[in-house]
Amino acid sequence: MKTDQGNTQNRLNGVKKVKTYFIVTYGCQMNEHDSEVMSALLEGLGFSPAEELEKADLIIINTCAVRKKPEDKVASLLGKLAPLKNINKDLIIAVTGCMSQQREMAVHLKERFPFVDLITGTHALPRLPSHITRIMEIKQRKTIVDIEEDYAKREGLPVKHSSFFKAWLPVNYGCNNFCSYCIVPYVRGKERSRKMDHIIEEAKILAEKGYMEITLLGQNVNSYGHDLPGKPTFAALLKEMDQINGLARIRFMTSHPKDLSSKLIETVARGEKICEHFHLPVQSGSDRILKLMKRQYSREKYSSLVREIRKAIPNVSVTTDLIVGFPVEMEDDFHETLSLLEEIRFDNAFSFLYSPRKNTKAALLKEEISHQDKEKRLGKLNNLQHRISKEVNETLVGKTVEVLIEGTSKNNPDMKTGRTRTNKLVHFPASGELTGLLVRVVIKEARTWDLIGEVE
Ligand code: SF4
Repeated sequence: MKTDQGNTQNRLNGVKKVKTYFIVTYGCQMNEHDSEVMSALLEGLGFSPAEELEKADLIIINTCAVRKKPEDKVASLLGKLAPLKNINKDLIIAVTGCMSQQREMAVHLKERFPFVDLITGTHALPRLPSHITRIMEIKQRKTIVDIEEDYAKREGLPVKHSSFFKAWLPVNYGCNNFCSYCIVPYVRGKERSRKMDHIIEEAKILAEKGYMEITLLGQNVNSYGHDLPGKPTFAALLKEMDQINGLARIRFMTSHPKDLSSKLIETVARGEKICEHFHLPVQSGSDRILKLMKRQYSREKYSSLVREIRKAIPNVSVTTDLIVGFPVEMEDDFHETLSLLEEIRFDNAFSFLYSPRKNTKAALLKEEISHQDKEKRLGKLNNLQHRISKEVNETLVGKTVEVLIEGTSKNNPDMKTGRTRTNKLVHFPASGELTGLLVRVVIKEARTWDLIGEVE
């Protein structure tokens, strides 16, 4: 697929000397991947990465709209960026991503931060080069806003992977589920699956370049293919991926429980490279709340899925997402969530306070819980899960696990850090440049968030 990159590069030559860029990314892995695409597009225009935000000629804030907190962070960052415009008159500031894809928010950002040069949404990614070129050419700048929906143009965009040994690989974009609390279908659009041969081709190129691990990405990978001719399944895609020479690990996220098939579980169980880890967001343990959330499964259906996964795949890890304080969550509902944690014993759970998102169905529900009570519930839930995570991790002490080394530990220069196939963080003493290598590590100590070991 052609982008307007070539033309804009020609127009840019002779306009400016080498410029630098800095991207601040909030939110999920899909946003991180979008930032990798933006980096490649900008480098195609002749930009190079800046070491620090303050020194960049172009600052892009890639935003997240899933909760209020990341939106507040964007506003606070933009406030801090304003003075930089006085130091560097040519500085370009752009806001992109899910937050600015919402029309009302784009208008609000334009009014509140008039010094922002470009406001785009998730659909405008292929048009980034032409917008930046135009801004650089114009003397009297006005904010450009581009939040037009455009579903067709993503295939073939370049990517600058931020790691040399692991890569994100999108399999589908958007979401059709409209869970009542979620803004994603409104900002990422309807679900579009990439053709299987495009995904496989990209994965093969990554493997040839020496990438060890690929994470297949989608808002709901389990519904991959339903919109393609012949309706290929995600299980079929994983099976093909498993055949690619050179890869050591294949991961995938996120899985919607309602679309998780027995075939997929069987494929993971049989796969050689497919990692034994399911991130399966449950959100609540109460059937009443699950219904109001429009999650389309019951607590029992979810539990039986986890039982099926654990039966088919010994040593699998299962992690989840939870929302605390959904508008009409009563104390009884919350206790159902706590009892689900006790029942399932997740390896880890990522829990968030509910935050109303404009235009979603749940935002119309009357808030019946005070913020203080929500915080209390979150604290209780986290304490319980932390205990469970530690207990689950303790079962690994004395066992040997395969670890893909990700680098030197942030807290100790004499330790390396890596991940198991089950996505657990492991630290162990080692020296030298070992990033991207697989080692076998004996686990000596278990903690809530990570494990300590020694190379076998
Ligand atoms: S499946 Fe539900 S929670 Fe996930 S992105 Fe789609 S609407 Fe949002």
